[in-house]
Amino acid sequence: MAVSEFGLIERYFKQQTVNNPTTRLGIGDDCALLSIPAGVELALTTDTMVENIHFLANANPEWLGHKLLAVNLSDLASMGAKPLSVLLALTLPSVDEQWLSRFAQGFLNLARRYNVDLIGGDTTAGALTLTVQALGLVPANTAMKRSTAQIGDLVCMTGLLGEAGLGLKIAQGHYTCADGEAALARLHRPEPQIAAGLALREFASACIDISDGLAADLGHIAAQSGVGACLEWACLPLSPQVKHYIATTGDWQMPLGAGDDYELCFTISPAKLKSLAIPYTQIGIIDQGDGVRITQSGSTQPLSRQGYEHFSQ
Ligand code: ADP
Ligand code: MG
Repeated sequence: MAVSEFGLIERYFKQQTVNNPTTRLGIGDDCALLSIPAGVELALTTDTMVENIHFLANANPEWLGHKLLAVNLSDLASMGAKPLSVLLALTLPSVDEQWLSRFAQGFLNLARRYNVDLIGGDTTAGALTLTVQALGLVPANTAMKRSTAQIGDLVCMTGLLGEAGLGLKIAQGHYTCADGEAALARLHRPEPQIAAGLALREFASACIDISDGLAADLGHIAAQSGVGACLEWACLPLSPQVKHYIATTGDWQMPLGAGDDYELCFTISPAKLKSLAIPYTQIGIIDQGDGVRITQSGSTQPLSRQGYEHFSQ
């Protein structure tokens, strides 16, 4: 039996319980209503995933639901915002209830883990396109930005670099390795670094999430702050699997150019770094130079800032 649009939303997307105290009214009316405390700023972001550009037609729907939410929460993390709630715009070629149920499961499981409510959205017919708008809170004037790195700061990052990039090589069949599960998991089910973002807010001078590749994303910090950045190759946090990939292929630029890691890259003064209580790796410095460079065995070369550009192909 054909289900109505609202029947689908009720069945798959309406949560049974409220996760976040700011949610006053969720799915079901013309608007959602939030109660926003005084003294905070609302952080808003939106990201779209399009079939055949961001994912393949046969992608695991549960992973897609997870990743769609994760990439949006990652934007909140990079500014040090605490996530509250999200809106979901779905454009679907047809109603495939099994697909919807699994997609919703991946999405809502991650939402619950971060006390995020799905408070509304829109559902239309068309080529498969998934859009989330995410809302977060940050105390007034404390959000981390891209434009405030200082000369003399250190460049650091959370987690490992190039895991999702290695996962993509494996998923596309360009590379095989026996122990690639962690890399594939990072590609398909990235973890938004919410706790790290909140912990960094007091200390970091600038922050960005690594979505388009470290070279491109650190390039945004450098350009918007009017500074340069120099990375130290030997300091990059690479897993044994990524090191092995580089050793066998010679493709040392992969971890610098690949996106989708969703770790946080931040700049911080040496004095403040001492107080930082989260795991991180120091990977470079902010200086007066031009763009992003990398030092390898004592010689320094510029890194191209190219990340993935949708309109350049
Ligand atoms: P309207 O016609 O007023 O835009 P809709 O019929 O599109 O309302 O949606 C009805 C309710 O369901 C609204 O509260 C809307 O926010 C919510 N909704 C619609 N699509 C989705 C979705 N994909 N995910 C979550 N909520 C949705
Ligand atoms: Mg509508």
